[in-house]
Amino acid sequence: MWTTPHPSPDAPPDPELERLIQRDRASLLYSMGSSSVFVTIAVSAILIVVVRTPELSPGLYAWYAGILLISAIRFVDMFILFPRLRQQAFDGRRQIRRFGAGTMALALLLGSFSWLFFWRLPPLSEAYAFMVFFAMAGGSVTVLSASFRLIVGYCAAVMLPGVAFVLFARPDDGGRFAVFGIFGFIASFVFARRTSRTVLNGLRLTRWNQVLTIRAEEERKTLERVRLDLAEANAMLERRVAERTSELAHEVAERERYAEALGRLASIDPLTGLSNRATFNSRLAAMLGGTAQSPSGVALLFLDLDNFKQINDLRGHEIGDQVLRQTAARVAAAVDGRGDVARWGGDEFLIALPDCDGDAALRLAGNLIDAIRPPITVGADICRIEASVGVALYPDNGQSADIVIRAADVAMYAAKREGKSRAKRFDPALAEDMADRYDLEQGLRDAIRGGQFSLAFQPIISARDGACTAFEALLRWMHPLRGAISPATFIPVAEQSGQIQRIGGWVLEQACLAAAGWPDPSIAVTVNISVAHVLVGNLMEDVEHALAVSGLPPSRLKIEITETMFLHDAERSAQLFDSLRRKGIGILLDDFGTGFSSLSFLGNLPIDVIKIDQSFVRDAGRNGYATIEAILSIARALGLQVTAEGVETTEQNRHLVELGVGSLQGYLFSRPMPEEDVAGWLRARADALPRLPPVSAFAGT
Ligand code: C2E
Ligand code: CA
Ligand code: CA
Repeated sequence: MWTTPHPSPDAPPDPELERLIQRDRASLLYSMGSSSVFVTIAVSAILIVVVRTPELSPGLYAWYAGILLISAIRFVDMFILFPRLRQQAFDGRRQIRRFGAGTMALALLLGSFSWLFFWRLPPLSEAYAFMVFFAMAGGSVTVLSASFRLIVGYCAAVMLPGVAFVLFARPDDGGRFAVFGIFGFIASFVFARRTSRTVLNGLRLTRWNQVLTIRAEEERKTLERVRLDLAEANAMLERRVAERTSELAHEVAERERYAEALGRLASIDPLTGLSNRATFNSRLAAMLGGTAQSPSGVALLFLDLDNFKQINDLRGHEIGDQVLRQTAARVAAAVDGRGDVARWGGDEFLIALPDCDGDAALRLAGNLIDAIRPPITVGADICRIEASVGVALYPDNGQSADIVIRAADVAMYAAKREGKSRAKRFDPALAEDMADRYDLEQGLRDAIRGGQFSLAFQPIISARDGACTAFEALLRWMHPLRGAISPATFIPVAEQSGQIQRIGGWVLEQACLAAAGWPDPSIAVTVNISVAHVLVGNLMEDVEHALAVSGLPPSRLKIEITETMFLHDAERSAQLFDSLRRKGIGILLDDFGTGFSSLSFLGNLPIDVIKIDQSFVRDAGRNGYATIEAILSIARALGLQVTAEGVETTEQNRHLVELGVGSLQGYLFSRPMPEEDVAGWLRARADALPRLPPVSAFAGT
């Protein structure tokens, strides 16, 4: 896991980060290596055919056999050995060396051509061979962009032997070739330096981004855990209230039956001698009524023994009762008359402290825990017991006794969750969060039926001519009481409450229906799909249903997914998207650069388009453009299209278009619009396009 991530280029290198970058470099080299070997095989064959003479043929064939042999070994390395390694945490530097050895072997054999054959070749063939090697060296700058040293080695091995040959063997007319060759070598050197720096920067920035995302994700998970714990605590609380209600009913019945016998004891817990519930409740009510005069409120401590059930089960109820009696005595001694102590039930005690603030209450809670901790001797038995305490304040945490008791109980459960044997104050923020979430979850259940959902559509613009090529469908929720709620807020709730499948299906259907009604039948619609929908739902069926209902051709539907999709059940996801693509449905990788994958990972994904995340466009001034440039060069090598989102200014637009981004999306062109505005917007844009200047033409109409 990440210990010290370095989000700035000036920070000292992190060894783990460096290791990952080395692996990315190796993967990048290997992913582009096979095409270069194919090119070498083909170009060498053409070279032989062009320069062949009867007397040279045997030598040329032997040379070509050498090329084929080395190529075969490299294919084994690229297609069999390296793919196996990719599953593990392999040593990137070693793989780069291995790849380098193969590359250099091939380069040296290519370079040897001049010394082997030039002395018998006519000048025209010689010039031809020269051009071929020159071109191969030029090509290596792109293919080997992940290793500057390798580019230089390759160019030297391929070009310098020929230069040396013409200098030494043809001193009279070889000079021109030599100058040409040396100049070419220097040019490749300079060019290689720039390209490899850009690529390395790109890899590094992506990994940094990844580190930041992992940390954010970890934080989110911790928060999520806390929320779930509270929800669980709440559920438990409710169960216990129900249990207690029946207990109470039982008690009341008992009390009626034994009313007379109990008589004097009615207000006291017979086992411990502390107040019982009823007494405590009436005393607490009196205490709360008196707070009007006192500056600080009433503190309520909810104390629960941590392992009492064990003692009861293992040693019997006799001993259990003794332990409760002694614990009660210790609690009462620690409170020392400053408040009211009651046995609330089973192994629970409540303490009410008038005129007490949160800090004092927490201090007392700590004292109580310490007082209970020393071993308790019951006859020959020694028991150890610990307690967790929840603290809540009246009136801060609740306006009535019931609510404050409930809040203290929630806090006590939080203390248990955090590891028991501790005190914890009630946190209103978490309770609000719990209630809020619950509200949203319930609200979502009726949102479709209640017609509260709608889709907004945001245009995606072609950088080539400024025309609109697609609209992204974005879900909108108009809550009857709370008004518009952002999808960033409610989509996660829908995902976690198992509703995303139903909602995602609705979005797919509505988006396809809307697109089928647009005036221009070339414009596609893109739909965001959640990981949870893919993992739990049946996306394929939902897509087929939406297409069938709307009559939209599959080529006009595109699906936006995020890289996290491939973290869960990667194989199933890949298969699913493969079959969607076979149907003609495009797959877009959304928010690219914020996820977990590296640039080199891209080559293996079943996707058509990368959407560069808004954060890169926003930060473009600092290092965004370098990253965008790197993403573009690799996307180009892998044949992927690139869309930039979050374009807000003409300045960003100009830069992105100049860099070669294929499509653009953002407020500059239009905010997401309601369905009924789409046709009008398209008309206005078509009217305005011819009047706008070329690059800034892409600005909104
Ligand atoms: P996203 O897929 O990255 O969508 C782009 C978000 O950026 C949208 O926010 C859009 O309104 C906003 N945006 C577009 N252009 C600009 C710009 O120039 N500047 C700025 N600052 N923002 C821009 P929105 O609609 O609030 O959606 C937020 C996220 O909610 C989406 O991010 C997507 O992840 C999720 N979402 C929205 N609709 C759906 C849906 O139907 N299904 C699923 N699963 N997720 C959805
Ligand atoms: Ca999206
Ligand atoms: Ca996005």
